[in-house]
Amino acid sequence: MSERRFDVLIVGAGHGGAQAAIALRQKGFAGTIAIVGDEAELPYERPPLSKEYLAGEKAFERILIRPAAFWAERSVEMLLGHRVASVDADARRVVTDDGATFGYGNLIWATGGSPRRLTCSGHDLPGIHGVRTRADVDAIMAELDGVQRVCIIGGGYIGLEAAAVLTKFGKHVTLLEAQDRVLARVAGAPLSAFYAAEHRAAGVDLRTGVTVDCVERGDGGGLSVRTADGGAFPCEMVIVGIGIVPAVAPLLAAGAAGGNGVDVNAWCRTSLPDVFAIGDCAAQANRFAGDARLRVESVQNANDQAATVATLIATGDAPAHAALPWFWSNQYDLRLQTVGLSTGHDDAVVRGDMAARAFSIVYLREGRVIALDCVNVTRDYVQGRKLVEQGASPPRDRLADAGVPLKELL
Ligand code: NAP
Repeated sequence: MSERRFDVLIVGAGHGGAQAAIALRQKGFAGTIAIVGDEAELPYERPPLSKEYLAGEKAFERILIRPAAFWAERSVEMLLGHRVASVDADARRVVTDDGATFGYGNLIWATGGSPRRLTCSGHDLPGIHGVRTRADVDAIMAELDGVQRVCIIGGGYIGLEAAAVLTKFGKHVTLLEAQDRVLARVAGAPLSAFYAAEHRAAGVDLRTGVTVDCVERGDGGGLSVRTADGGAFPCEMVIVGIGIVPAVAPLLAAGAAGGNGVDVNAWCRTSLPDVFAIGDCAAQANRFAGDARLRVESVQNANDQAATVATLIATGDAPAHAALPWFWSNQYDLRLQTVGLSTGHDDAVVRGDMAARAFSIVYLREGRVIALDCVNVTRDYVQGRKLVEQGASPPRDRLADAGVPLKELL
């Protein structure tokens, strides 16, 4: 069979991959485009998986990034159910694990990450689930009726959002986090303490600083999670949310520079000719982190990097990617909106009343605002963006005064 070739081949049917195809057509790109995806599904939104989709509030069709007809109308070919196993950058072709080969003019690598798995004994017992794909969440939902006790391993966004939904369902939830606080990777200590208290108040048995030793079959066909300090947590379901591993092995094997993800320049070019990488798997110097090279794991980042690459391919010119990172998380009736990257802050100012469940935390480094976490205060989030963009250094007492609008501190 002759090899099929596409002017732009996008590997990964998540947010970044879908947005790259959308943006290419918006920019007038008339060449052939295909998206290779390892799931059987058309591109869909992942944030609702641990929120509205798990809660049964949104059907799958409502979380599709675009309806099926959209892709056909714009001649974006969907090559679903294929996983790219290798890249030949000289021959400009990829090979999938089922032996199909696809040639490319430009390759956009948008594979995100695979959920990190437990490695301890019992890690593969039935009843242990991740939360990364539709299939993961469908499997959880199919079992839930027979489940009273859920043990969640990992206190990042996945673990906490799942805990909020399952508690509302009346399940007894235990959450085990290895670090000494939840959200340790993404937020400052005051926010971690606030969320831990909210979850405990909702009935979650939340433990930090615990190491999972193994998962065993418990009595009566259930499971038991054992921890290194001698704890045993009987349950009928285990949910694992312990981070992701960037899915870049084929690119690195092809010679692309990288390690923790694949390294890209400000236009998302890898070190391989006409191979770009975007989204969770792309490691890029970030001006909001003092130009440190890092991967930003967010939908916004995937979409913004996709726009940069699409513009470059379609028009031959694009501004360097320098978008301001932002994130959100819904847990219970709390809407968290984050702007900027708080990693490396040396001061944190609380605005508003944490007890009233409406407050912001402003993160500073050397007196400059680098990030905000806003809980139920959208106004601070909107106005605070400019403080981060401009690296403003307002007086600390004015920042701490929730009566002073942030826009007055520019
Ligand atoms: P995450 O944010 O990396 O958090 C995972 C947490 O689990 C980390 O604190 C990690 O500690 C801890 N952990 C690791 N191994 C553990 C173990 N054996 N036992 C107990 N705890 C352990 O990852 P995630 O929550 O799984 O989320 C996955 C991805 O989805 C991320 O990219 C996340 O940003 C994204 N996501 C985002 C949202 C949102 O923005 N609202 C919602 C859902 C998911 P270490 O740091 O020490 O490994």
